[in-house]
Amino acid sequence: MPRDDFSKATKDALAKRVGLRCSNPACRAPTSGPHSDASKSINLGVAAHITAAASGGPRFDSSTSSEDRASIENAIWLCQNCAKLIDTDAQAYSSSTLYRWKVAAEGEALRGIGAPQYSEFFPQPPSALHTPLPRIGGHDYDQAREMLIHAGWQPYMNHWSRGGDWDIAFGNGEYFWNKGYHEIQSACTTGLAQCAFVFKDVYGNKLVVITAGEAVEEIGATPGVWVWRIEQPSPEIENG
Ligand SMILES: [Zn+2]
Repeated sequence: MPRDDFSKATKDALAKRVGLRCSNPACRAPTSGPHSDASKSINLGVAAHITAAASGGPRFDSSTSSEDRASIENAIWLCQNCAKLIDTDAQAYSSSTLYRWKVAAEGEALRGIGAPQYSEFFPQPPSALHTPLPRIGGHDYDQAREMLIHAGWQPYMNHWSRGGDWDIAFGNGEYFWNKGYHEIQSACTTGLAQCAFVFKDVYGNKLVVITAGEAVEEIGATPGVWVWRIEQPSPEIENG
C-alpha cells in the first residue's frame, strides 16, 4: 500500500501556519534558522501525519480516503523530536490530542502575527530619569554594548594607563581591554568569570553591567550579559 505523503506546498503552508514552530504546546521549539551557506536555511521541522500515511502506521484510520490522509487537515507541524515522540507512543498521543495541539498552535501564531514580542527597551516609570535601558539580558557583551551606545549610554572609559592594573589585566579582562572596551572596571578569573562594565548617561546615572562566561575565541564563545543595575547620582555615593 502506498504512503499518502504531503505535497511540498502542503508542508510549506503547514509550517508557516504555526510560525515555523513545533506545535507541541510543551515544546514550541523553532524549526527554522539560518544555514552557514547564506543562500540557504535549515529546517528541523516535520509535517507529521495525524492519522498514519499507510496502514499499520500510528493512528491509521481506514475510514478515511487516501486523499484525506494526504491533505493538510491531516498534518501537524512538529520538531523532529516531537514527531518521533508521537509515533513512538501513539496511545499517549491520540488523533484528538494532536488536533487540539494544532488548533492551539495556529491560534497562538494568529495572535502573535505582526505583534512585536516586546519593546526594545525596558518599561520605566515616569519618575525614573534615565536614558532608556535596552533589553540587554542574555546578549553577548559585544551586542549589548552596541545597544547601550545606540540608546545613549556612554561607556565610562578608563584611562589607557589602567590597562595593566591587576583587576583588569587577567582572564577576560585582557580580552575586553584589547577590544577597546575600556569601560571595564574589573575582571574575575574564577567562578563565572564575571566582568563589570560602567556606562553613564546625560542625567548622571551610572549603569553597571556584569557579564558572565569565558571568552573562548576558538569555539566562538563570548561572555554574555548576566545582571545590571542603575545607580542614580547621589552626593554620598560617588564611587565611579
Ligand atoms: Zn517539539
